[in-house]
Amino acid sequence: MNKFTFISVDNPDAAIAELDEHDSPKFIAGGTNLLDLMKENVERPDHLIDITHLAFNTIENNADGGLRLGALVTNADTAWNVEVEKRYPLLSQAILAGASPQLRNMATNGGNLMQRTRCYYFYDTATPCNKREPGSGCSAIGGYNRILAILGTSEHCIATHPSDMCVALAALGAIVNITGKNGERSIPFADFHRLPGDRPELDNTLEAGDIVTSIDLPAEDFTTHYKYLKVRDRASYAFALVSVAAALKIENGKILEARLALGGVAHKPWRSLEVENMLAGSAVGKEVFQKAADAILEGAKGYGDNTFKIELAKRAIVRALTEAAGLEEQA
Ligand SMILES: Cc1cc2nc3c(=O)[nH]c(=O)nc-3n(C[C@H](O)[C@H](O)[C@H](O)COP(=O)(O)OP(=O)(O)OC[C@H]3O[C@@H](n4cnc5c(N)ncnc54)[C@H](O)[C@@H]3O)c2cc1C
Ligand code: SF4
Repeated sequence: MNKFTFISVDNPDAAIAELDEHDSPKFIAGGTNLLDLMKENVERPDHLIDITHLAFNTIENNADGGLRLGALVTNADTAWNVEVEKRYPLLSQAILAGASPQLRNMATNGGNLMQRTRCYYFYDTATPCNKREPGSGCSAIGGYNRILAILGTSEHCIATHPSDMCVALAALGAIVNITGKNGERSIPFADFHRLPGDRPELDNTLEAGDIVTSIDLPAEDFTTHYKYLKVRDRASYAFALVSVAAALKIENGKILEARLALGGVAHKPWRSLEVENMLAGSAVGKEVFQKAADAILEGAKGYGDNTFKIELAKRAIVRALTEAAGLEEQA
């Protein structure tokens, strides 16, 4: 690990001002991802700005009937918050499927959005990796790629975004609120994370020095028919091979509205409005769920070790929708 200085700040302006004083400064929140990356020499900040004392640490009702999650609220406090459990149970389920209780006690909501890929080569500084070192090549294409992406990949990178929480936030149509050098702005969740294209070093659309302040959940009612299904190598403490956030509004056996997002398959949570629209208006049943699964995976591409994910994702979608619809009991 390289040497670095450390400061705690108590307001966003002070945090942003610190950025200009150093060559490679970095914000730190729970530290559960950043410190690991620093120990592996993947991240080499010369200055850490502790943002955990900023006032983005509450969960509050929004005037439009939605809920605002502070970026510095821990994943544990978010998942167990009474309003989140009652109004956004899909989100609670997704957060609790991630990491371990100890990690969720430290990890923050902002940090969860910003966590970096778990691609083995990204962590191994002895190997080429376009995300870690732009232009050096991608060791995963043609290498061992079991956990990597099958949708939205590029010839430069096939990494996945590892978050569980973000898959539910994508399905729920969250909004990310930011403050930065140029003031405040909001980004729809679908536009927050990027596909790799020819700039795989960029995970998201934040500008240098931007701080995530909160995440807004719209006032939707997906409290009856929902399921976060995570398929992984171990029953706990493992990242998703494939995950599915499914939510439905159903009346008299007919789907009025559907939400469907996938994790573990792309550089960002993968949501298809087209497939959601296809589900809306259909009678609830496995046949239409299978059609949705086939449609969402239509452009999927395997790279050898990870090709099994295409069929796995289809089966996971059918199972998640089936359980969300109440056709089978939730596992
Ligand atoms: C062993 C292990 C298993 C895990 N398993 C899972 C899992 O199954 N599912 C899952 O979803 N996650 C998993 N995680 C990841 C964990 O959820 C993340 O490490 C955590 O959410 C990151 O939050 P943090 O507050 O600790 O971020 P930090 O490590 O402090 O920061 C991470 C990055 O975000 C930036 N950052 C933090 N907050 C902000 C902000 N408000 N604005 C702008 N930038 C910010 C930092 O500069 C840094 O670059 C696991 C982690 C570990 C170590
Ligand atoms: S998939 Fe992306 S993160 Fe992994 S080695 Fe290739 S460029 Fe690096």
